[in-house]
Amino acid sequence: MDDCIFCKIVKGEIPCYKIYEDDKVISFLDIKPLSKGHALVLCKEHYENILDIPQDTYEYMCGVVKRVSLMLKEKYNPEGILINQNNGKRAGQEVCHMHIHIKPIYKDTKVFSEANHRKEFSREEMLKIQEELTFS
Ligand code: AMP
Repeated sequence: MDDCIFCKIVKGEIPCYKIYEDDKVISFLDIKPLSKGHALVLCKEHYENILDIPQDTYEYMCGVVKRVSLMLKEKYNPEGILINQNNGKRAGQEVCHMHIHIKPIYKDTKVFSEANHRKEFSREEMLKIQEELTFS
């Protein structure tokens, strides 16, 4: 995609702090990191998000996410590692090129807490949702 910033990074038209690359996937440091080592893993081909990426490409990306996570743990020993991936603008996706965030969480890292914003559903509502969503 001509106007996609991540496609430009993949093509080498825009610089990045690359930490991993193979023929399908690239990983580089987020330019506005939550914490030291915050990395992005993205597929080289342009897909928008989880809804249109082919299954095998997604699974391959996840393998790289695991490798990068293990490396971050080994090098920086964070207390936790937050993996997240936004799908669509309403979910916070700014760059519409499928990518997965790997965020090392240290003692002083501020992690957004959803705890106070959780919804409550009755048992009946939960059963209805379960029925609607169960794979047949
Ligand atoms: P998202 O909100 O999931 O679409 O995340 C997009 C991420 O890409 C943000 O965390 C940005 O800081 C990051 N980002 C945007 N442009 C660049 C860039 N040129 N190099 C590295 N990271 C970038």
